[in-house]
This record gives sequence, structure tokens and C-alpha cells, in this order.
Amino acid sequence: MAIDTYALPVIRYPSGKIKRTEEIIKKTTIAIRKLLTMHGAIHPKSDITRLYLGRKDGGRGLRSVQQTVKEKEQSIKAYAASMATSDKLLAEFRSDALTIELRPDDEKIDWHMKPLDGACHRQVFKVGDLYQTYMWLNKGNLTANTESVIITAQEPVLPTRQLQTKIYHTRDDPRCRLCKDSPELAACIQHIIRGCKQLAGNTYTERHNNVAGVVFRSLHDEYGINKPQDWWNGPGKVNENDRAKFLWDFYIQTDKHV
Ligand SMILES: [Zn+2]
Repeated sequence: MAIDTYALPVIRYPSGKIKRTEEIIKKTTIAIRKLLTMHGAIHPKSDITRLYLGRKDGGRGLRSVQQTVKEKEQSIKAYAASMATSDKLLAEFRSDALTIELRPDDEKIDWHMKPLDGACHRQVFKVGDLYQTYMWLNKGNLTANTESVIITAQEPVLPTRQLQTKIYHTRDDPRCRLCKDSPELAACIQHIIRGCKQLAGNTYTERHNNVAGVVFRSLHDEYGINKPQDWWNGPGKVNENDRAKFLWDFYIQTDKHV
């Protein structure tokens, strides 16, 4: 937001009037990214395309210098063209200086299609709602550093054992550091977040219960049943009224083993 508000206007204002070489634009772009990296807002190996993608689409929503300059140049060009018939000065400006070549689009490569960087996104795309999946980028109010860590975890950038074995060649064993069973995958971190036997017993259960607790509590509201005031007090084993009965963490007898 600071870059959009304070830095880019300084670049935007003279664009189209002062000619900037591609080299200067590139240098400025790199300087901005370097600054963000130094302050922990971008991982040095993180995907650049995603940085400039809108937040609704799973990007970081940064405006690029190139895009800023291009937009201004185009708008001046359009204005001069529309006024040239009635304004002598602009007509002159148009015939003279307006050989501004349209700059090519930024690296608009689809990061979703990148074999490793987009792997996580493609998996979500198959089963999930992308708008809700990326809502944390719009409404999460996370610090740039936290955001960067999460984004990095979705790319094959975190030094998982498989990445260290297959790409960096700093290790021989790609297997998980906890269970020593499956490989710690490089693309996306599926094994760590949902496949490790060592974590299944407590960490995954805790995560499951936290999510289930939210559903459980909101169902209490819907059916007008009292629930503990604070969520950290747990949901309560059995809560009921004449409309509904809620059980938490119960074994249910079924005909067949589930
Ligand atoms: Zn494991």
C-alpha cells in the first residue's frame, strides 16, 4: 500500500513526458523487490509473477513500475489523440513526441501453470473455492512477513528434505524428518500438512478440532442452545434442547466399521 501510495505516484507523474529507458524501469523494479526482500516481505526464491497478481487471484497485489509507466503513457497518448483536432499544441506534441512505443506486458506468464510453483494452486482449483481460499490475502490483515511465509510454503521454496535431496543435492535422504517414512515433498508441502504419521496423533487432531469447534459452536447459535462463553473452554460434550442435540467427540455405533 505504501509503494502504491507514496512511491509509484512519483514515477507515474512524469511518465509519458520524460522518456525512461527499459533499463531504468527494470532497475527500479529490482530495487523495490530487493527492499521488500530485505524486510522479509518476499522470500528471495519466491515466484515473482505471483507478486504482481491481484490478491483475489492468489497474488500479493503489488503494482509494477512497468505497468504504472505503461498506463500513464497510454492515457497521455489517448488524450493527445482526442484533443489533437482542436488543440494546436497537442497536435504538435502528438506528431512529434508521440512515438512512444507501447511497452510489452509484464511477465504475464500464468504462474498457475508453472510445474512446481503452481502445484498447490492447481490442487486447490480441482476441489476448492478459489475466492474463499484466497480470502486471507484480502482480509487476513497479516503482516507482510507472515504472508510471505505462507506464500513460500505454497511454493517449492521451503527447504524440505526432498528439495534438499533432488534440487540442492545437500542431502541423500528425501524422507520426512519426523516419521522417516514418506518423502517430504518439494512441490507443496502435503506430507507435512496432512500426511505425517508423527503429526497425525495430536497436531492434525488439534487442527481438526479447532475447525470443527467453529462449526459446532455456530450450530449452537442456530438452534438456540447455550454454549460456553469462551471458545477456549471447549464446546461441551453434550448440549441439547427440544430442537436439537449436539454431541462432541463421541463414538457412534455403526453396522459396518467406518
Ligand atoms: Zn512424516
